[in-house]
Amino acid sequence: MSTMTGPFRITLLPGDGIGPEIMTVAVAVLKQVGAQHHIEFEFTEALLGGAAIDATGSPLPEETLTACRSSDAVMLASIGGYQWDGLPRAQRPETGLLGLRSGLGLFANLRPATILPQLIEASSLKPEIVAGVDIMVVRELTGGIYFGQPKGIFTGENGEQRGVSTMAYTSSEIDRIGRVAYEIARKRQGRLCSVDKANVLEVSQLWRDRITALSADYADVELSHLYVDNAAMQLVRAPKQFDTIVTGNLFGDILSDAAAMLTGSIGMLPSASLGASGPGVFEPVHGSAPDIAGQDKANPLAQVLSAAMMLRYGLNQPAAAERIEQAVLTVLDQGYRTGDIMSEGMTAVGCEGMGQALHKALQT
Ligand code: NAD
Repeated sequence: MSTMTGPFRITLLPGDGIGPEIMTVAVAVLKQVGAQHHIEFEFTEALLGGAAIDATGSPLPEETLTACRSSDAVMLASIGGYQWDGLPRAQRPETGLLGLRSGLGLFANLRPATILPQLIEASSLKPEIVAGVDIMVVRELTGGIYFGQPKGIFTGENGEQRGVSTMAYTSSEIDRIGRVAYEIARKRQGRLCSVDKANVLEVSQLWRDRITALSADYADVELSHLYVDNAAMQLVRAPKQFDTIVTGNLFGDILSDAAAMLTGSIGMLPSASLGASGPGVFEPVHGSAPDIAGQDKANPLAQVLSAAMMLRYGLNQPAAAERIEQAVLTVLDQGYRTGDIMSEGMTAVGCEGMGQALHKALQT
């Protein structure tokens, strides 16, 4: 008899809009794969975003943060919707998300961009350019120009205003994101490209020095460097050259979206955010899609692939992660498509229908 792994305590944050629909599919997939791989889960649901505002007045109730902190991983769907857009900033759904990220100390954001052969036509680039693309962008999430001091809009004695943001990184901030990226590159094809602007920015010079120094500990990973302007060009010119990319907060914000769009389908993109210790947060890149919420039209695959990332990067269960990823490929091979990825000759399904197709694919 094989022994069980776990139980892993998972906090579920279904959130708003299509969130609850896609979360239902992902949880069913986890339960099925858990049974197959002898992994036990304990799921707890908590409130975040608009759903939390309606129930408690706060987008991130204290109990939610406490539940997340005491779990092994957090799976988030999506938050937000028009009905909360008029509220003051402190009570907006996004404020809950930012609070969750800072409350859990999530400094590393992992954004994979993989071209699935079945969906190659969805890319805006030529098939021969994007075929085989499999990139992981590792973005620093809690430092750099979004947080550096001083920041603000200051008025001088002559009445002239000056907007200031400061791009700053300490050596320890660079080292910790660097180590995450090297470890991930190691689990992938063993190539790491660090992106900076070291020809102009001192902060980038330190970034480059530290990332280079770390390579002594990761002799099996091949390190290269690119300036961010060149990296942006190379991403659309010859994206296949990249395996793992590591970069700071601002450059990563832009490059991760550019890399994601090589795939052309927002309903397919998962992400992970990791901290130094404690649980990571695993969530789709897309939002709450209020335009299709409650109509059984949402594509649950980004959420399902986020569950796979949780197994691989949060719970160290690569075999179970692989099984989920294979099931996603299988249902696409079988021609099942939600509206966002529909093309001629394919079989249209809703969110639930895609869930049923996954259930069958996982049985084999
Ligand atoms: P969105 O990602 O929700 O939707 C953009 C478009 O993509 C819409 O047409 C939507 O129908 C479609 N889409 C998105 N996900 C889909 C899926 N899984 N299946 C099928 N179609 C899908 O972005 P938006 O419209 O700019 O924002 C809507 C709300 O979501 C806003 O309140 C915004 O603040 C919030 N938002 C939340 C997150 C998050 O939770 N992390 C991220 C982005 C936006």
